[in-house]
Amino acid sequence: MSFWWIYPVLVTLCTLFYSQALRTYPSNEVTLLDSMSALGDLGWVAYPAEGWEEISVMDERNTPMRTYQVCNVLEINQNNWLRTSWIPRGNAQRVYIEIKFTLRDCNSLPGVSGTCKETFNMYYYESNYSNLRHIQENQFIKIDTIAADESFTQVDVGDRVMKLNTEVRDISNLYKKGFYLAFQDVGACIALVSVRVFYKKCPSTIRNLALFPDTVTGGDSALVEVKGSCVNNSVEFDAPKMYCSADGGWLVPIGRCFCKLGYEEKKNGCQPCLPGYYKALLTDAHCTPCPAHSFSLQDSSAECTCEKGFYRPETDPKSAACSRPPSAPHNPMLTVNETAVIMEWSPPEDSGGRKDVTYNIHCRRCQLEGQKCNPCGSGIHYIPRQFGLSHPRVLITDLLPYTNYTFDIEALNGVSELSSGPKQFISVNVTTSQVVNVILKERKSKDSITLAFQGPEKTKDAVVEYEVIYYEKNQKEQNYTILKTKSSFMTVDGLKPGTTYVFRVRAHTVGGQGIYGGEIELETSTEDMIAITDPNQITILAISVAGGIILLIFLVTCFFVSGRHCGYIKAKQDPDEDKMHFQHGRVKLPGSRTYIHPHTYEDPNQAVRDFAKEIDVSNIRIERVIGAGEFGEVCSGRLKLPSKREICVAIKSLKVGYAEKQRRDFLGEASIMGQFDHPNIIRLEGVVTKCKPVMIITEYMENGSLDSFLKKHDGQFTVIQLVGMLRGIASGMKYLSDMNYVHRDLAARNILVNSNLVCKVSDFGLSRVLEDDPEAAYTTRFHLSC
Ligand code: AMP
Repeated sequence: MSFWWIYPVLVTLCTLFYSQALRTYPSNEVTLLDSMSALGDLGWVAYPAEGWEEISVMDERNTPMRTYQVCNVLEINQNNWLRTSWIPRGNAQRVYIEIKFTLRDCNSLPGVSGTCKETFNMYYYESNYSNLRHIQENQFIKIDTIAADESFTQVDVGDRVMKLNTEVRDISNLYKKGFYLAFQDVGACIALVSVRVFYKKCPSTIRNLALFPDTVTGGDSALVEVKGSCVNNSVEFDAPKMYCSADGGWLVPIGRCFCKLGYEEKKNGCQPCLPGYYKALLTDAHCTPCPAHSFSLQDSSAECTCEKGFYRPETDPKSAACSRPPSAPHNPMLTVNETAVIMEWSPPEDSGGRKDVTYNIHCRRCQLEGQKCNPCGSGIHYIPRQFGLSHPRVLITDLLPYTNYTFDIEALNGVSELSSGPKQFISVNVTTSQVVNVILKERKSKDSITLAFQGPEKTKDAVVEYEVIYYEKNQKEQNYTILKTKSSFMTVDGLKPGTTYVFRVRAHTVGGQGIYGGEIELETSTEDMIAITDPNQITILAISVAGGIILLIFLVTCFFVSGRHCGYIKAKQDPDEDKMHFQHGRVKLPGSRTYIHPHTYEDPNQAVRDFAKEIDVSNIRIERVIGAGEFGEVCSGRLKLPSKREICVAIKSLKVGYAEKQRRDFLGEASIMGQFDHPNIIRLEGVVTKCKPVMIITEYMENGSLDSFLKKHDGQFTVIQLVGMLRGIASGMKYLSDMNYVHRDLAARNILVNSNLVCKVSDFGLSRVLEDDPEAAYTTRFHLSC
């Protein structure tokens, strides 16, 4: 039973909200049912007959609108059902029901108290069948009881603006093909204006160049994981995926695709690079213009081609400009020092567009006239190296003296190997030389002097002859004589007795003629005598001989007393004296026992180089100070040379702030010591001259100097031990004497004793009165600087 007054109200309402009903829905909502847009009969079932009534009204565009109303507020026990037609759910597991309705306020109706209600119930029933005629009430599942937010209290609405109630409910986890909705009225005055059923989806989208399709939201509020597929001309970098949320939004994009090589990202897609552009890396977002000296003629280029004559090595990135080999080096500068040459040059004017220019040195040995050249072969040393020099400089050593060399300095860079063009180089010619050292061999008579020649080292086989020029001192211009010999000795006769002569020597080899060495002054004797190098040494020698004789008597006694049992001392006391040789590859003069005084060298540094091995300071470990020498501290430490076992050494250092003369004298000791090789002479291991402080490295004598050793252990030695020590000293002194070396300061403080009680002669210093030197102060610390 309907109230007569409700019709105009509903018509008014429906007209009022018509425009709202034509609204567009959000793009992520898919409508399954919309009562407002149904053109024909909705086909809904209402029962009992006096319950819900369908009312069709026309909107202003004459489109019929279907609404349902019921208003049996005066009667008790109302149970009016309105059931929709079957609603297919499609893929949706969760659907939303939006209802728009008006509900009359019971207070505004006279005489309805006790029977009037202000709510109604909404139900659903899942089914795979679309044409069920009857569904029992108890089969429906209740969705909710619906109450109004707004209600109207008077029938005459006039100009009053009214609102529809809108309520949305949802049903989750649907699993059958469709469902029916039902509205149960229990005595309210309701006008059901619109029912819309929809589900939500995440609309298709492209993120990070991956396409994600339309995705229906999950049945409950869980996220739905969706895998993306890369858009055209893109490749997967990291598997793309996203999550579709319950309210139809995309969340948490992970992974991505990149446009493939030769394509760039534009408007969520991949477009080919235009000619003149390239894209070589997946991760590059955009095409870039071809680098210098390269081009691309086609669309979608992954790299650009080098212009003719230009190259790009595999190791260069595709983004690098193409480059070409460098031009030749230029402006070479040579510093020739006998058989070594320092070559420097200016880098190529055109580096070819690269920073990796290096240089190779190619060596040819040419005959004197320069016509015929052959490769140099091995034996020549290049410092730091022959090939792949990164700086325009090289030191070449161990060249043959008096030889013409041609060095080609070749410039290369990272593309030289790719180019078939000619190598770019500059040639320099070098002619080597070498100074001949002259040694006073003998001064047997008052009118002759015998000289021995030393060098050129490397080609002594090739020395054709030595040329000696000599003259009386201070008379060079007036009267000089030139003599030649093919032997390495020469006796110059016909000299004036007691006269000083100046000698200079040069060598002629198959390679050519050398330069004269430094001047050597030698004086003839006034009387014939036995060979002695220095007249000043006669007195000292006499004393030494006397000492030697006494010592010899002592030793002979010892020999008989000990019955040769002096073998307590483990080290071999007698050297193999027949073999005289210089320690560091210096030429051997057969039969010669003469030591070379460093002062006979024009350049004392050369003497050091000749007789002492240069040791790299990194091979030395200084441990503690053990004494004070004339020139600075003496320390003990360790020396570890490559491929040799570590040994204990004594390290003498030259104090800071030394004068040049002190340096010369200090190293002079090494030049002398280095010429000796005897178990009772302190052994030189080498020198450090390339770093400061300058150092002399000798074997380490554990028991220090003999004088303090004897004092410390006074009365503790047997005669045999003492004699053994003396015998060692005598043996060392004899060796020195055989070498024509006069020690001049033999004393117990200059004898060192090792752990086996072997005594060794030391202190070959050139300067013996340094105490008077005001600069003799020294520091107690090493500050290495190389
Ligand atoms: P010198 O400069 O040779 O007079 O040495 C000074 C002091 O250093 C000596 O008296 C020794 O005590 C000590 N000394 C020098 N050379 C060595 C060495 N090779 N082994 C041990 N101690 C040494």
